[in-house]
Amino acid sequence: MSRHEFSRETRREALKRSGLKCEASGPRYGLEEGQRCNCSLSLGVQYDHDVPDQLGGDNSLENCRAVCVQCHKIKTRGDIRQIRKSDRQRDKASGVIRPAGKIKSPGFPVSEKAARRQAKPPLPPRAMFKPVDERKA
Ligand SMILES: [Zn+2]
Repeated sequence: MSRHEFSRETRREALKRSGLKCEASGPRYGLEEGQRCNCSLSLGVQYDHDVPDQLGGDNSLENCRAVCVQCHKIKTRGDIRQIRKSDRQRDKASGVIRPAGKIKSPGFPVSEKAARRQAKPPLPPRAMFKPVDERKA
């Protein structure tokens, strides 16, 4: 069993608790605050992590919601956004990515003349070894 999944027991308990009605509620499922979906789970039930495991949620019954397919889809979409956001924040904190504001763009040269002055002619290619023919000659 992967840590991403609820145990069979937990799922059974969650389904019992749900009364076969979708347990999704609140804005994270696209519902009003405090509003519960309550649609029948007879057409399909999915077990959702209230707090996604990537964000520290566990596989406890408390963190398990028996929800309908539609609610699960909506919630998963939001979770992915939140996980990406938390990944970005973590990366920023650890210095993996620099804050966008501090990256300086090279900008454009003041004038074409200035650009030509700045541009140095490329160094001629230097042979590391003399060509074989020359050595023989
Ligand atoms: Zn639902």
